[in-house]
Amino acid sequence: RSAGDLVLEAQGLDRSFGGIHAVDDVSLEVPEGSLHAIIGPNGSGKTTLFNLITGHTRPTSGRVRFAGEDITGMPYSKVARKGLAKSYQITTVFPLLTVFENVRIAAQAAGHAYVFWRPADGIRAVTRRTEEVLERIGLAADRDVVASNLSHGDQRRLDLAIALATSPRLLLLDEPTAGMSPPETAATVELVQELNRDVTILMIEHKMDVILTIADRITVLHQGRKLFEGTPDEVRDHPEVKEVYLTG
Ligand code: ADP
Repeated sequence: RSAGDLVLEAQGLDRSFGGIHAVDDVSLEVPEGSLHAIIGPNGSGKTTLFNLITGHTRPTSGRVRFAGEDITGMPYSKVARKGLAKSYQITTVFPLLTVFENVRIAAQAAGHAYVFWRPADGIRAVTRRTEEVLERIGLAADRDVVASNLSHGDQRRLDLAIALATSPRLLLLDEPTAGMSPPETAATVELVQELNRDVTILMIEHKMDVILTIADRITVLHQGRKLFEGTPDEVRDHPEVKEVYLTG
C-alpha cells in the first residue's frame, strides 16, 4: 500500500425517499490516513450519505468501494468486519458494564483473541488491546467505572474507544462534539487528531471552527448535492458556502 491509496471511494451516490432527493449524485474520495469532514445545514443529506456508505441504506444508484472492494449494498455487519467502524453518539455503550468490559467486548469481537493457539494467549491479547485503547483514549483511570456513571463527555469517549478497539481501517464519526461544552469539545478535537495518526477518519461535524481546525478536506452538502469540496482555507473563503451557512 502506498500513501495516497483510497480507503473509501463513493461514486455518484443517489438516494430518494418518496419525493425527497436526500442524496443527489454525490462522489467522495478519502485517501488513507486523511481526515475528511462533511458539513452542511440540517436536511442537506449528511446522515443519509453516511448510511449509504455503511450499508444501513441502499443507494438508488451509485457505487461504494472500501479498501479497493465494492461494498455497495453490503449490510453493515459485513462491512464492519472488513474494517469500517462507526461511532454514533453512545449507541454502542452497554450502560451496566464497566469501561473495561465495554472495550474488552469490542476487542474480542474484532477477533483479537482468535489468532492464538492457546486460549490463555488469546485472552491476554484481548486484555492488552483493551488496555492499549483505554490508555490512548484517556480512560485508563476509569476502567472499573460502570459506564452509566461516566460524565456525558466520557461516555462519548467510551463510544470512541469501543470503535477503536476493533482496529478499524476507516472510522466514521457522526458529530463527535455534539452537545459538548467548549472544554469537552477541545479535548475531543485533540483526541480525534490523535486517533487520526493511526486511522483514516470521515466525520460529520456542525461546528465550523472544529472542522476548519481538524480536517484535511471538507465536502459541503446542500440540498443533497455537493456544493463544494476543498481544503479548510478554500472552504473558509468560498462565498456560496458562507451564504449557505449564514442563511441556514
Ligand atoms: P442531515 O443529516 O444533513 O440533516 P438527512 O440525511 O438526515 O440530512 O436528510 C436529508 C433529507 O432526506 C431530509 O429532507 C430528510 O427529511 C430526508 N430523509 C432522510 N431519511 C429519510 C427517511 N428514512 N424517510 C424519509 N425521508 C428521509
